[in-house]
Parts: sequence; structure tokens; C-alpha cells
Amino acid sequence: MARLVMKFGGTSVADLDRIRNVARHVKREVDAGHQVAVVVSAMAGVTNQLVAWCRDAAPLHDAREYDAVVATGEQVTAGLLAITLEGMGVDARSWQGWQLPILTDGAHASARILDVNGDELVKRFTERGQVAVIAGFQGMNKDTGRVTTLGRGGSDTSAVAIAAAIKADRCDIYTDVDGVYTTDPRVVPKAQRMDKIAYEEMLELASLGAKVMQVRSVELGMVHGVRIFVRSSFDKPEDIDPHSKNPPGTLICDEAEIMEQQVVTGIAFSKDEAQISIRRVQDKPGVAAAIFGPLADANINVDMIVQNVSADGATTDLTFTVPASDFDRARGTIEKAKSAIGYERLDGATDVSKISVIGIGMRSHAGVAAQAFKALSERNINIRAITTSEIKFSVLIDAAYTELAVRTLHSLYGLDKG
Ligand code: ADP
Ligand code: ASP
Ligand code: MG
Repeated sequence: MARLVMKFGGTSVADLDRIRNVARHVKREVDAGHQVAVVVSAMAGVTNQLVAWCRDAAPLHDAREYDAVVATGEQVTAGLLAITLEGMGVDARSWQGWQLPILTDGAHASARILDVNGDELVKRFTERGQVAVIAGFQGMNKDTGRVTTLGRGGSDTSAVAIAAAIKADRCDIYTDVDGVYTTDPRVVPKAQRMDKIAYEEMLELASLGAKVMQVRSVELGMVHGVRIFVRSSFDKPEDIDPHSKNPPGTLICDEAEIMEQQVVTGIAFSKDEAQISIRRVQDKPGVAAAIFGPLADANINVDMIVQNVSADGATTDLTFTVPASDFDRARGTIEKAKSAIGYERLDGATDVSKISVIGIGMRSHAGVAAQAFKALSERNINIRAITTSEIKFSVLIDAAYTELAVRTLHSLYGLDKG
């Protein structure tokens, strides 16, 4: 007997037929004798609709009310799945975040989970074998008791947090792909599924644009040692052997568990970037602080930064990137601080994308990034900015070349299938 968390994303619960399919997956595990907590997302498209309604109602709205609206999508799915399971003769009940409760901080719309109370779930597992169907993405503000949500894609984080709280043997993330691939399989058909990936690599992959797992969920998994298994909800439940030791999917686990480590394991990309270049900035102490201080105060995340050494000792150019959604705000913030900074002109671009190459093996291999620069130049792709760290590097390029760059690097590092 094992204790499992099974999480199903939006596409997997898109309509009643798919919810029935999910219920059969759950029944399969229950019939095999396992204790099961299910975490569900809103049906595909529902959260987008709810977000759009909030925006249309008033562009500048109270985040607490936004949460009250967008948290409803998951409530519907949880209830429908519980009804479906009951209809199949499986003892089940739905739970909302506040009912357990799942306590969060007060950062409405992007709250962090502080504590999950899984006592009642465990009691019901042991006393009557009841399946818990939990609404993902939502929690309760610890101080005010109000409904919070965890940021887009947050049901992954709900699932991993619940798995840690009830000490689950595994947290299965059922989605519309059958695992984590070397890059987004929708963009590179030659991408390969990995059997295993280390938490650290998954964390980089997710934060650099691969949306298969929410970043925070991987962090939580790493801290609590939750074994996360990414797999497909579209496999037919009756085709899966419940006692199989390795069903198709990707295990996110400790680095030590991975025998054969590649130098490069994956490639991520993000088109949600914007570039700001400040021309002829005064080259003197305090200028970086004058630029990045106000951006930090405005809560704008700056990612890549490139500053030239000035030729004349007087002025230089400085380029940095921010999330595309913060582009206008970032521009406004810099323009407001113009007299304190001292510069000639501000240029901006939103048609840029960031391509990142990730691999733990980079720690012990030199020249990995240099190979990429050469390959991109051979394709005539200009690099606007570069950042590197221990296990990854990123380049900023024109958005039009995103797919070409990803495919080029994917083959360069030997990741193409067959
Ligand atoms: P869910 O609704 O189940 O949470 P998501 O849409 O959030 O699913 O995440 C799954 C999607 O992530 C896939 O359809 C795939 O296109 C995308 N994706 C991006 N990068 C990767 C990757 N490296 N491996 C697998 N999927 C990826
Ligand atoms: N429904 C939420 C979203 O679309 C949470 C999730 O699916 O994980 O972002
Ligand atoms: Mg998701």
C-alpha cells in the first residue's frame, strides 16, 4: 500500500468525458489498495476567462477580489470529480483550500503556502479509505482568512505541498505530455523524454520558461524531498499496470539518483521578455544604484544586465531585461529617474526572446556556452545579451529566431531523438 497524490491539469479535466477518464485513473489506484489525494486544476480555459472578467470589470482591481473570482474554477472541478467518483462507487469528497486549511501568506494572486493541515485527510484514508479531491491553486490568507491563489500554474504547487504534508510516497503530476522533455515537444518534435531529471535542473528549466511545472512546486519538492513523477493523463487507465515499477514518465529527483549525467540536459525559452537599453549613461559610481534601485522599489524583476566599459571614460550603454508585462512600468520608472541617472536616450524592444541551456554537467565542463555562440552565429542569429551561472547560460535574441535557435542548440548538444 502506498500513499499517493495525483494532480490533474486543466487539459486533463477539460470536459466531463475527461473527468470520467481521470476518475478511472483514480479508481485504478484505489483498487490497487493505495490511499489517494487528488489535486485538480480548473477545466481548460476557465481560469483565463475568469482572469479576463476581472480585468474587464476594472483594469486596476483589488487582488483579494481577483482571488475570490479565479479560485472558483478549481472548486467546480473538485466537486465534479467527487461526484463522478461517487458515481463509480468510490468513497470521495471535495475539499477547498480554506477547509483543510492550506494556509498562505497575504500576497494575493501569487501567495506562498505556509502550512497544509493534512490530518483530516489521513484520518479518512485510514478509517474509511476515502479519496480526497482537493481544489488546487488556492489557499487561505493566514491573517485574514480570505481566499488566496498561488499564481498561474499553481496547482502543481498545491499538489507538492500536500504530498509533503501527508508524507506521500509519490506525487504524480498528470498532464497533456507524458513527461519532461529535453525541450518543449510542441516546438521541437525531436525532443526526447527524460527518465529522470534532478530538482535543480527542473528548477532552472521551469524558471527559464518550460511551463510544464510551476517553479515554486519544484522548489518545494526539492526542500521536502518529494518524489515528483510527471506523466500523461491521456494514457488509458486500463492499460496501466498498477504494480509496474516504471510506467512512462519523468521522475524529478535528487541528483545522486541519476546515474548517467549529460553535460546539457535541456533547453528552455521564453518570449515574455523585454529589453531596455539606456544610451550614453554617465560612467560614474552610483549610476547602477540610481537605475536598479527605483526598479526594485517598483517590484520589477531585472534579469540580464549588460554594461559596456566606456571608451571615453565619460559615458557608456547599459542594457537589461525585464518581464514583458513590466515593460511599460520599467520604462516609466527609468524616465522618472532620468535626472538622477543622467543619460541621453532610452531604447526598448519587446520582440526579443531568451533561450537557455541547462545542465548540471556544465559545472565540470568548460566551453559549453562558446559552442552555442558559434552555432548561433553560423545561423546569423545575433546575440543581444548573455548571462551565465553554474548550471545554465542564457542568450537574448530576436523573437523571430526563437524556434530556429532552440532547434539549433537542441541538435548541437546531441539532444535530438534517434
Ligand atoms: P497542465 O494544464 O497539465 O498543468 P501545462 O500546460 O501547464 O499543463 O504544462 C504542460 C505543457 O508544458 C505541455 O503541453 C508542453 O507543451 C509544455 N512544455 C514546455 N516545456 C516542456 C518540456 N521541457 N517538457 C514537457 N513539456 C513542456
Ligand atoms: N487553473 C490555474 C491556472 O490556469 C492553476 C493551474 O492550472 O495550475 O493557472
Ligand atoms: Mg500547469
